[in-house]
Amino acid sequence: MRLVLFGPPGAGKGTQAHRLADHSDMALIATGDIFRENVAGDTVLGQEARAYMEKGELVPDDVVVLMVLHRLDEPDAKDGFILDGFPRTIPQAQALEEALAGQHRPLSAVLKFVVSDEVAVKRLAGRRTCRRCQRTYNVEFKPPAVEGVCDVCGGGLFQRTDDSEATVRHRLEVYHQDTEPLEFYFWERGLLRQVDADGTEDEVTERAVRALSDLLG
Ligand SMILES: [Zn+2]
Repeated sequence: MRLVLFGPPGAGKGTQAHRLADHSDMALIATGDIFRENVAGDTVLGQEARAYMEKGELVPDDVVVLMVLHRLDEPDAKDGFILDGFPRTIPQAQALEEALAGQHRPLSAVLKFVVSDEVAVKRLAGRRTCRRCQRTYNVEFKPPAVEGVCDVCGGGLFQRTDDSEATVRHRLEVYHQDTEPLEFYFWERGLLRQVDADGTEDEVTERAVRALSDLLG
């Protein structure tokens, strides 16, 4: 199955991506990881991306798209993948679909995680991220067993500057403006499936699996 996940910041999309990948043979491809790998590996694309990031500018679509497409060519993605954090805009979605159509492996479905702005803000303000494996916790809703330490890998937890309330509000605005139009774009193509993301992680996983039941076989 070739799957795209999208939703506002705070929808719990990253966690659900990990959970879906753990229960399938799909490769989990998170754009943030691809960025870090390319920059750390000092690839040509990584150098290009870093030049923009050092100027505090957004990395342009064509660079992002090439990084993702290279990643999709790796062996573990041949039997299927979950894209988390990409595409974020309609031009990125068009570039992705065009490339996949050329390889005769179109997307199977797009899952949209739906949550209100208020719930999103409440979740993110308490969010802590593992430095090592990027798993996320919440001081209120999902605290780790030991404060400040990842249950899974023992890594240290921190609050991303992205998760302060002012930046969260701004990220939600950007999401509504740039990313939410993907809903109609993918609906028109018969790919969109909506998942109510207001609930516990288990409940949301259950809903996501149900939404994909015909594809999971
Ligand atoms: Zn961890």
